Parts: sequence; structure tokens; C-alpha cells
Amino acid sequence: KGVVHKICAGQVILDLSSAVKEFVENSLDAGATSIEISLRDYGEESFQVVDNGCGISPNNFKVLALRHHTSKLEEFHDLQSLTTFVFRGEALSSLCSLGNLTIETRTKNEAVATLLTFDRSGLLIKEEKTARKIGTTVTVKKLFANLPVRSKEFHRNIRKEYGKLVSLLNAYALVAKGVRMVCSNTTGKNTKSVVLKTQGSGSLKDNIITVFGMDTFSCLEPISLCILGGCKLDGFLSKSGHGSGRYMSDRQFFFVNGRPVDMPKVGKIVNEVFNLSQPIRKLMLNAENTVLNIITIIDVKKFDTEFRRHISLRLSFGRSWFYSAYL
Ligand code: ADP
Ligand code: MG
Repeated sequence: KGVVHKICAGQVILDLSSAVKEFVENSLDAGATSIEISLRDYGEESFQVVDNGCGISPNNFKVLALRHHTSKLEEFHDLQSLTTFVFRGEALSSLCSLGNLTIETRTKNEAVATLLTFDRSGLLIKEEKTARKIGTTVTVKKLFANLPVRSKEFHRNIRKEYGKLVSLLNAYALVAKGVRMVCSNTTGKNTKSVVLKTQGSGSLKDNIITVFGMDTFSCLEPISLCILGGCKLDGFLSKSGHGSGRYMSDRQFFFVNGRPVDMPKVGKIVNEVFNLSQPIRKLMLNAENTVLNIITIIDVKKFDTEFRRHISLRLSFGRSWFYSAYL
């Protein structure tokens, strides 16, 4: 354990939420049961993720933010699934080139923590002793500041970017079982607002109630369906009588193997099924749309474009498949 390996893949950090997503994933990979995300000025000034995971061992400090380095291969035997899912060893190296990255970390074997500072190329340029409990804090200041065009765009879309991030964190809070999550934003002269706070219960149901409230939960109906290829699909769909009549992608959540994923196509199809299908329409009376779909796809060996296509096809050709959940 702790050996850093080399693998290859493509670019991962496109915006604020993909940056934070990588950090939250890292915290979950490190076995954290508490993850705190703090933003300054909606993430434009800085963003920080604090966890109580296993920490990073000192023999990994130097290579940590170098491209294609990951410590996670040994735990997973199928390299194929790694290259198409999360472990590409690229998040930290990308973030170094896009902003000012520092990491504070301590494992159970160290008496004190270390504050690590990296340069743009991912080289470790400073190591200082500091006080911290076991776990890791990753901070990025001035994301995109060295890229004038992206920086301007980021500034212009900051509220939208922030909204996207909050929605993503909601998704994690829904699916992460036994993980406490807090997200706050501090603006201007230290006005701090907490936008998410969950204790991390043990079930999807309890998490839905914490994140969206009991009212929302009572509008949902559980579904549990099997599809081909060894994957099972379950979750909740909005009941009849509750709907805004509008497609709201930010209220549809998809998870694969317990991690949120973006599946816009599948989301549209689910939505289409609800709008176009006669039996559903009848059943749903005046409800023309879904308020909230939370769909979990568990136990997928390989999550890639082929799988996405497969599930999209299943959904579009097998609409009756959804009816059975309702009728
Ligand atoms: P990957 O997650 O694909 O391995 P990253 O660039 O995201 O690549 O992280 C590089 C390495 O840094 C990880 O493999 C892990 O060893 C370490 N690391 C990053 N964040 C954390 C964290 N919060 N806790 C423990 N280790 C971490
Ligand atoms: Mg990672």
C-alpha cells in the first residue's frame, strides 16, 4: 500500500464542480466519514475540502501531484474499469496547473501533520509541519486565475457554477451512507452561509429526507428493477400529482456504484417516459412531470460509454419497463 503507480488518461477539470467532485471522490476513497467543503466568494477566491480520511503517507508527498500518479491500483484488479472511471491520478496534477494548490495531511502513523505546497507543474516546493487531526485538507486558491479567458468566463458564470456545485454536493449527500457532509460559502466581509448539512444516515430514504425534507419524500415512490448485464436499478420516482410540468435536470440524480454520475440522456428518457406514455399519464392525472428522480444503478463492473449506450437503449426501447414500476 502507498506505492504510486503510473497510468494514462485525459483531462478531468473543466469547472468548479468538477474540481470539487474530484476532491470529494478522493475523500471518499480515503474512507472519510466527514467531508467539509468551504468556499470563498462562491469558489472564485478559494475552495477547500477537509476530510477525516486515512491521510497521505509521507513517501507519497513528492509524487502526489505529478501527472498520472495514483496510489489506488492495488485495491482494484480491473485496470480497464479504472481508466474509465475514477482513478486516473490526474486531479491533483490538473489542479496544480489551474490554481494554487496546498495540501495538509496526516496519517495515523504521524504525530504531526504536514502542509505541502506545489507549483504549477505539480512539483512539491515546500513542506512544513503543522497541527491537524488525522485526515486531509486540500485547498485551491484562485482557480483559473492564470488563464485569462477561462477566468473571465468563470467570473461571469459564477452563480451558475456555484448552483451546479451545490446540486452535485446534494447528490453526494443523498448517496453517501454514513458520511457527514457540510458545505458553506463565505462572501465579502465574512458572511458565511451553510448550504448543505447532513449527518450522513444509513439509507437513501433518510438522506433524501435530510437533503430535501419529508414533504419531498412523501411525493416519491420507490422503484426496483432489474436490467440486463448484471446491473440492478433502483431508487425513487415522483408520485402522481406532484410535478412542475418542466424538465428539471438538477432534480434528477443518477448514481452508479454509489457515486453520482451525469447521465443527461437517461434523464431525458426517464422524463419522456413520464410525459409521453398513456398509462402513466392516466395514472398521474394532471401531473405532467417528475419532481425528483433518484435512481441508483448498483453493481456495474465497467462504467463507460458502452454502458451508457446500453442503459439508454434499454430505457428507450423498453418503456413498458417503467410502467411496471407504477402499475
Ligand atoms: P487518483 O484519485 O486518481 O488516484 P488524484 O490526483 O485525485 O488521483 O490523487 C492522487 C493521489 O493523492 C491519490 O491516489 C491518493 O493517494 C492521494 N490523495 C488525494 N486526495 C486524498 C485524500 N483526501 N486523502 C487521502 N489521499 C489522497
Ligand atoms: Mg482522485
